[in-house]
Amino acid sequence: MVKFPEAEARKFRNIFVCKKCKSKVRANNMKVIQGKVTCRKCSSPRLRTVRKK
Ligand SMILES: [Zn+2]
Repeated sequence: MVKFPEAEARKFRNIFVCKKCKSKVRANNMKVIQGKVTCRKCSSPRLRTVRKK
């Protein structure tokens, strides 16, 4: 359903939160999905989007 990168970027703002240390990481959406982005602090690849609800 989500096919447009612009809409995706707007939706998630390309900002992710580390599940481990909860620091914010700004990264490309596709890279995070592919697991290429890791947390700067704890280098964990487990990231989630900012939106909780
Ligand atoms: Zn972290």
